[in-house]
Amino acid sequence: MKIVYTEKHSRHHPPSQFLGNGMYPYPEIPDRLEAILLSIWGSDRNEILPPNAYSMDPIAEVHDEGYLQYLEGVHKAWAQAGGGSDAGLIPDTFAMRTLNGRPEDLVHQAGYYCFETQTPVMEQTFEVAREASFCALTGSDLLLSGEPSVYALCRPPGHHAGRDVYGGYCYLNHAAIAARYLSSEGRVAVLDIDYHHGNGTQSIFYDSNAVMFVSIHADPNRKYPFFSGFEDEKGEGPGLGNNLNVPLGPDVNEAEYLSVLDSAIDRIQTFDPAFSVISLGVDTHRNDPLGDFDIEVSSFGEFGKRLRGLAVPTLIVQEGGYDLLSLGACVAGFLNGIEGS
Ligand SMILES: [Zn+2]
Repeated sequence: MKIVYTEKHSRHHPPSQFLGNGMYPYPEIPDRLEAILLSIWGSDRNEILPPNAYSMDPIAEVHDEGYLQYLEGVHKAWAQAGGGSDAGLIPDTFAMRTLNGRPEDLVHQAGYYCFETQTPVMEQTFEVAREASFCALTGSDLLLSGEPSVYALCRPPGHHAGRDVYGGYCYLNHAAIAARYLSSEGRVAVLDIDYHHGNGTQSIFYDSNAVMFVSIHADPNRKYPFFSGFEDEKGEGPGLGNNLNVPLGPDVNEAEYLSVLDSAIDRIQTFDPAFSVISLGVDTHRNDPLGDFDIEVSSFGEFGKRLRGLAVPTLIVQEGGYDLLSLGACVAGFLNGIEGS
């Protein structure tokens, strides 16, 4: 399988996140991607390619102009204002409901565009996130030139980022950018199998009849992102019926997961997509520090095998997965399954 990857991802490396009662080590670290790369490196079946260069146009098809200007410029503005620190920019006051005017100053826009305190902006965050989007776009172009499946090894992840909002270690939504790009050539189904709900992707395509969004995830009544991912969110306007959320309880095992995955595949097939984009999170693994499912490494091969049944060109985009000892094997198994080995 062709794999699109850039080592530039390591330039984004927040040291910590703020969680309610204090600062904690940041789990979304460069070692994640290196662990995945080690597991897929050296196979004759895999070819690792750098991303192509793109203009900002395909990214601006998904993300708001003011939002992109904020992400690109805020760290410099923050440093010039004397606020720079090694921890990165984390807002402390948030625009919510009626408290939602946008201030002119970039630094004060942090609480306008960010929805929590776990996702610092570092000096090179924007450039690195943009490169990750380019990985997904390169994968999309490979599908358009006839590849059956391509893996975009992206970091930071993207599925929590909406049109003009970021959080959950995500800044630009690579899967959504790829899906929008591919949708010029036919209908696209995005299937999100990260442990957490892909709230950003859902919000971007909520009223779309060109892109369907299906997500299997931990129930937001008990897990992040808490305010999105409920069963009754079904899309709106032309997109009504094209959004499917499957929230799950704790300790989900392979058989239980496969049962909902098969239903999701059936539902996607009724949409008759020309392409699929899979937001692949492996934080569903039983040892993941952020999750509480009971999925084993061997299950990911079966997940990939079932998804081969979609029988359309498929872009796999890396999202979460934080157990450094298992995530490489989970991804490798999934890719083997979807490729048919
Ligand atoms: Zn996740």
